[in-house]
Parts: sequence; structure tokens; C-alpha cells
Amino acid sequence: MAASRTIRSSSPPNRRSEPPQSSLDLSVTRLPGIGDDSRKLLERLEIRSVGDLLWHLPRTYLDYSTFTPIRSVRAEHDQTVEAILGHIGQRRTARGQLMTEVELLDPADSTATSVRATWFGRQFIKERYPEGQLVRLSGKVKWFGRTLQFANPKIESASAEAVHTGRIVPVYALTDGLKEGHLRRWLHTAVFGGAKRTAVVREVPEPLPDEIRERRGLLPIQDALREVHFPSTWPDLFAARRRLAFDELLVLQLALGQRRERWRRDAKALPLRADDATAERWVATLPFALTGAQRRAFSEIRADLAQRVPMSRLLEGDVGSGKTVVAALAARIAVASGAQAALMAPTELLAEQHHRSLTELFESRGGSSGAGAAAREATRDATAPRTALLTSSVTGTARRAIIDALASGELEVIVGTHALVEEAVTFKRLGLAIVDEQHRFGVRQRATFREKGLDPHLLLTTATPIPQTLSQTVYRDLDISVLDEMPSGRQSIRTEVRPHDALPKVWPWVRQRVALGEQAFVVTPRIEEDPEDDVPSAEATFRDLAAKDLAGLRLALLHGRMPARERDEVMRRFADREIDVIVATTVVEVGIDIPNATVMVVLGAERFGLAQLHQLRGRVGRRGQRAYCVLVSEKAEESERLAAMTERKPGTDDPLDGFDLAKRDLEIRGAGEFLGERQSGAPELRIVDLADVDPALIDDTAAEADQLLATDPQLERPEHGSLAEAVAALWRRYALA
Ligand code: ADP
Ligand code: MG
Repeated sequence: MAASRTIRSSSPPNRRSEPPQSSLDLSVTRLPGIGDDSRKLLERLEIRSVGDLLWHLPRTYLDYSTFTPIRSVRAEHDQTVEAILGHIGQRRTARGQLMTEVELLDPADSTATSVRATWFGRQFIKERYPEGQLVRLSGKVKWFGRTLQFANPKIESASAEAVHTGRIVPVYALTDGLKEGHLRRWLHTAVFGGAKRTAVVREVPEPLPDEIRERRGLLPIQDALREVHFPSTWPDLFAARRRLAFDELLVLQLALGQRRERWRRDAKALPLRADDATAERWVATLPFALTGAQRRAFSEIRADLAQRVPMSRLLEGDVGSGKTVVAALAARIAVASGAQAALMAPTELLAEQHHRSLTELFESRGGSSGAGAAAREATRDATAPRTALLTSSVTGTARRAIIDALASGELEVIVGTHALVEEAVTFKRLGLAIVDEQHRFGVRQRATFREKGLDPHLLLTTATPIPQTLSQTVYRDLDISVLDEMPSGRQSIRTEVRPHDALPKVWPWVRQRVALGEQAFVVTPRIEEDPEDDVPSAEATFRDLAAKDLAGLRLALLHGRMPARERDEVMRRFADREIDVIVATTVVEVGIDIPNATVMVVLGAERFGLAQLHQLRGRVGRRGQRAYCVLVSEKAEESERLAAMTERKPGTDDPLDGFDLAKRDLEIRGAGEFLGERQSGAPELRIVDLADVDPALIDDTAAEADQLLATDPQLERPEHGSLAEAVAALWRRYALA
């Protein structure tokens, strides 16, 4: 590796003795060139100490490492030249800006040249670089009339150390007022020591035991930091990034491994069991036959529930794959074992729907149609769990009664929103908590229940699958059941992306669908209009459609600020086909099940995540009938992202599923949100992009973390001190513990 080669230029001839405190902890103002104003600017980037500065890693790099002879300079490329400065002129442009213009002479042949360099507003150029000086220039070249020009290139004296030109140049995240050249210079000083040759990077302690470093072929930490800021070559940069990524993943694996061990040690869940005959009877009385995937998931869950170690299982299945019934069966096991179950939904509307579905599933006598409510009541299964709904619209004595019945154990299954069930309720014997459509899987729920002294089995459901790289790191302690099979008869929903101008054609078409007896959703990003912008709002859209384009149809408005009772009423009427078109916000996003709805029009579609759009689309065609989704977007430049909604899987006719779309979203938004509640201002992982990290690195770090924790579970040994500190810092960064 190039390690020794890079240390060369930074090794001070005779190092002074170490100060008692590490320079890394000192204020950045200890570095030459950083005064009080710069300190304030850096503070905005959360950089306070010299160590913080050293860990401000480049955002990207410019390859200025190859020199081009002046006569070979071409337009539209980043290039680096060595040149003698010819005549230097300065003038004001028509707009009053100072322009400095320099003729560049070829050092090999100082007569011929047709290349110039120009700068705008940089007085210092003329002051610092006199005519006749040999310099290095790096930057983009453009045609200007008949001459080639470097436009605002970076410049250094040819005899100076290469910092900004003639090398692979780091590019850093900046803040208003902070000059990129200054920041790069300070980092160069931190890494190579500058004039005083006191490189603070030499004080960074090596956190990895040598054994691991050698086994995995990793650069020493100081070399890695040097190379990541000022790479000698591209391979050196990759080696440096690999080393830093390794550390970051190892710390993550250690933190998660310790948490996993803590959970396992303190585990005290109730073992929940149902015998085969009983379980079979439940399945047989459902209104439909389970898919193979549902059966598989159910038996995996049954096996987990029987254990004393609390289950942490994720039930992953695309929209419409039938997660609710699996959850309902799990709840029955809890109840059959004398425990309680809680089903938590992301919205009240959805909680209401789940309550309806669960009640129906529990009381089903088999066969999908026929039995009306009265008949069902007459043949009510005596073992059907006693189930109640708790939303914010359940108030007064009804609410009191539910809360009391949960505390006494008389109520066996409670359905509500996350917040209500987690925070507002005491249970007699909570055995199973089911969290529907949750994206930060389980971490918060475990913690909340723990605080109440409970340790229920946890079943999490999601239509947004976890990329493998996350399931092998952040969610290594989650077991996963996948519903990879749709109930029969589902067909894909025809999806189109349309510009705003197409709406005059969309609405008459919606009218036609309604005339055929179908129903439609129109979804907007906002509830109310804002005069400041033209983001579509539910209220304005509803008003306009009722007055014009869809006049005469039965329209209704639905959004989260309406009282829950009104919303419920609208949904009931929609389900009973008393309403043709619902104009709504994303309150209809997750799980809502209206059998006869076939049209989903999303306005301002660019404002939604892909997984969210996929969820919205999943609201229509629920019974396998032909269904449509029209994504209307005002933003042409966004349409590439939206186009993913209409893409096919390579080599097939299948549309991208929730998994593919979630992965696209993850690539766009980053993985930070999967890690849990981030403390405000805390940085994301610095190096690792969990959306596409090398899987081999994940395996390596997982293996090393397991081995480290096996010999030193608390990381108490002195040689693990830095790692222990890094783990503690990670816990502080994400309120995870
Ligand atoms: P999701 O996985 O999106 O939560 P749901 O649980 O809401 O899906 O199920 C979607 C619809 O499919 C519901 O109407 C449900 O009754 C129905 N369903 C679930 N499983 C089956 C099955 N095995 N056969 C037929 N219909 C099913
Ligand atoms: Mg669902």
C-alpha cells in the first residue's frame, strides 16, 4: 500500500514532545489561519475542535492530477497545466465586476500560446502572482470567442506544495461565508502540518487492534485520514475509504450487538402457544384460504411466540399481500394463552379499519359472503377475542370503560394508533404488540414498552422492505417473514405520469369510470391552499372539481384535520358507494381498503416518496379488477424519479414492486432515518452509505464484532478503549439505547 509513500512528506524532522492534552481536543483556532470569524463559520458545520475538523471528510473530489501541455488544452474538460504568467490585465465588466485576465505562456515554448485564464472579483490574484511566475492552474476550460480560457481556475505557485491544483483535490461541504480554498488549506495543515510541520493527524489514536487491522488488510488510521483528505492516487483513496467504512460499520455492529445481548439477557416475554388443532380451526374459518406465504409466516410467528425470548419479527409484504390476517392470527394465539394483544396503526382511520377487519376475521365462520351481521351475531364464536378500538374520538365513559377493561384483562385485543396504545394505556398481561406499517422498526416500541416494565413479543409489518444491507446491520436482530405471494386474482395497476396540462383530459375520463359504477380517489399533498405557492390542496381541488370538472358527481373531502367521526362517516359512505370520488390527503395512504375503487389520481406527485406513491396506488383495484393510477406532476425535472412508478422489472412485464421502489427512495434520501431518532444536528454516518455499501464489508465487520464481544462483551479492555468510546458516541448520536 502507498502508506509509507504518503507519510514521507509529512514526517517532521524532529518532533517536539507531546502536549499533555491531545491537540485534537483544542479549539480550531489553534490551527494557523483560523481566527475568531472562521471559528464561528466552522461552528455552523458542527466543527469546534481540531479533531472535529479532521473528521470533516470530503464530500467529493476533483481529479486535477494529470498535467496537460498548454498546446493540448481542450475545451469543456477539467484540466491542469503548468504555465508562465504573461501579461496580466484588469478591468471592470459591464456589470461593474472586477475581471482579471492573464495570458498563459507555455514553459516549454514561451512564444506560442492561445490560452488565457480569467477570474472574476479576485483581487488577490494580481497581488500574489506577478507576471513571469511559473504557476499551476487547474479548472474547467471554455471557448471564449477564439481563445481557450480557464474560467476561475485554481492557481498555485509551481514551487508550492500541491493543495488546490495538480492533484486529486478534496471538495468539502461548506457554509455561507466559508471559502473552500481556506477550508482545504486548514485541512492540509491539519494533515501535513504546514510550515510548522506539526500535523495533528499524528495524534489520532489507532482504534483497531493490530490483529484485526492486519487480518483485514486495512490501512493504519492516520494514513487513512491523510489519504481520504489528500489522496495520493485513486486506489489509495479507495483503501482509505474502505478503512474508515470498516471502522464505522464495526462500531455500528458492536453497538447493535451489545444491545441485542442486553435484550436477550433481560428477556422476560410470556411464552404464547396454541395447539395445532385450534390453529387449524382458526385458519379454516377464515373467509378465504391463506396463501402459502401467509401460512409460512404464521408458522414462523407461532414458533417465535412460544419462546421466552421476546419475538422481534418483521412481516414484510407488498401492498395487498394480506398482512392483516396474519397479524390477526398471531393475536389469537396471544389471547388463547391468556394474554392480551395490541394492534397499533399509523393513523386513526386505519385503526378504525383494522378494528373492523379484526372483528370480522375473529368472528368469521368461513366462506366469504352470505352471513349478514345478524346471522354472524347469532353464531358468534365464543372464543373470538374481545376486541375494542381506542382512538382520540372515543371519549368520556366509553373511553374510561375501555381503559379499565384493559387494565383488568377483560379486554383481550386493543386496536389504536401507535401513540395511544403505547402511551395512554396499562395492560393486565400484554403478550403481543403488533405495529402496522412502521418504518423505524421496533427500536422505539421496545423502548417505550420497556419503560412500562413490559416485554411483549413484537410483530412489525411493513410494505417497505428493508434493503439487505440494513437487515444485516441496523436490523440484524429482526427476524423477517416475507409475504412474497399475492392473494390470487390481483393484477397490476396501470400507472401513468402526466403533466399538469393533461388534467382537462383526466377529469372527463374519471367521469367515465364513475359512469361505469367505479369509484375514485384524488390525492393532494396539502389540506389547505397557500397563496404563496401553487401546491395542490385538498380543499381547493374539492371546491374546483365540485364546481366544474366533476360537477354533478357525488364528491367528498377527507383530510386529517377533520374530526375523526366525520372522517369515519365519509369512509363508510364511500365504502357503501354513496360517494363517487374522494378528494383527500395522504390519510388514505396506508392500508385503506375500498373494494370498488379503481382510480387513483395523485396531484403534486413529485412531493411524495416512491414508496408512498406505491402505497397510494395500492388503495385501488383491491379485488383484482382493472385499476388505474395517474400521477400528475408539475415538475418536469422530477419526472425521472416518478417514471420508476411505471418501469418494468428488467426482462419482465412486472412493474417495480414496493421493494424496488423503497430501494430507489433510499438511494435518494439516504439511510439515516432508518437508524432511529437522530439527535438534532448530529451527522449521518460519515463514510458508509447503507443504501449501497459493499456486502463483504458488512460480513467482515459483523464477524469481527461478534468475535470482539465474545471475548470482551463490555469492551472494557484497554486496547478496546477507542472502540468503546466510539460505540458510546454512536448511542449518543442516535437516541437508540
Ligand atoms: P396489506 O398486506 O396491504 O395490509 P391486507 O391485509 O389489507 O393487505 O389485505 C388486502 C386484502 O386482501 C384484504 O381485503 C384482505 O381481506 C384480502 N386478503 C388477504 N389475504 C387473502 C387471501 N389469502 N385470499 C384472498 N384475499 C385475501
Ligand atoms: Mg395493511
